[in-house]
Amino acid sequence: MAAQLSWLKYFLPMKSVRPIYLIFFVTSQCMGKCRHCFYWNSINRPENALSTDEVEKLCDSAGRLLQLILTGGEPLLRDDLAELIKIFYRKNRPFNIGLATSGYQPEKLEKVMGEVLESARDSNFTVGLPIEGPPEINDEIRGIKGFFDKTESSAKMLKGLKKKHPRLSILIDITASHYNQEHLAETYMMVRDRFQPDLINLIITRGEPKEPEAKKIDAHILGQVIDLMESDVRSGKIPGYGFNSRVLHAKDILVRRAALKIFRGGPQRMKCRAGDLVGVIYPEGAVYPCELWKEPMGELRKSGYDLKKIWNSEKAGQIRAQIKSTNCSCYHQCFLSPSLFFDPVYLPALLNQTLSLGRVR
Ligand code: SF4
Ligand code: SF4
Repeated sequence: MAAQLSWLKYFLPMKSVRPIYLIFFVTSQCMGKCRHCFYWNSINRPENALSTDEVEKLCDSAGRLLQLILTGGEPLLRDDLAELIKIFYRKNRPFNIGLATSGYQPEKLEKVMGEVLESARDSNFTVGLPIEGPPEINDEIRGIKGFFDKTESSAKMLKGLKKKHPRLSILIDITASHYNQEHLAETYMMVRDRFQPDLINLIITRGEPKEPEAKKIDAHILGQVIDLMESDVRSGKIPGYGFNSRVLHAKDILVRRAALKIFRGGPQRMKCRAGDLVGVIYPEGAVYPCELWKEPMGELRKSGYDLKKIWNSEKAGQIRAQIKSTNCSCYHQCFLSPSLFFDPVYLPALLNQTLSLGRVR
């Protein structure tokens, strides 16, 4: 109970001494050639990623985590991925461990998830798989024929694993771009009915994608799909996470609405918690407040792998002040989500939404 209540302090307007929501790009290596990729400039460059031992050192200063997301590139291209997850589990006990994978290697994914689900028994897990459209459209956007089939095999395998490990949630991420917007509603319904995941996320192409045209998206289409998603949640068609599903559904509804408003040019009403509650670590140990910020808060290799030291450095303070003074705004849901969740101003809306959802699981 004390551990649960300890999260309440993040609703207070205080500076966090370290991130509780950590996004770790474990590698920049990737087999994908996605047209909308915002990380394309770093993909498959020679890299000297943090070793297993170096990650262990960083975990020593990372403290208790609410959410850890391991991403890339393709995280499964690291042979020590299961070991990395076990280290984070031992040292930081994340409440939820998210893995963002392309699903291109179902056998490897099964091995890693089987292993970590057996050993990290007190954490929840969410595996996010991307689907961008029906098979031909998906493969065309991802640049590899047969990608859809591989990702679908991964989803089926995970559904099998979930029977034994109900604390595993399966999430399908659909990234809306110029290339699939005409098929967005069809893609959403196909994912809902054919994959039957626990959750579906609609991501709006962000940052500086490989093909800039990817961001030319009709906001009206986004709005229609978001309405459809909301109606499905209300009618219980989307089960949600295996934990706190109602409140997290409510939060997702508010985040999607906020993202759309910002995409349409509206203001960001909540204070962005990037660099405060949320942090990003890149493969070689550079620490950033978010994926879109251009300047690092520090480098783990130059700071004795001490994340807390970087988080409390002068540089980090300057970046936080800049984010605040410029009222920095974007529609990146990974950051809107904790920013909204821990904003006391949104608490009444969050409670209202939660109550209005009734029993969805
Ligand atoms: S979007 Fe993901 S899978 Fe595609 S190239 Fe970028 S990192 Fe790889
Ligand atoms: S608003 Fe967006 S770009 Fe600005 S700090 Fe937050 S996450 Fe980064």
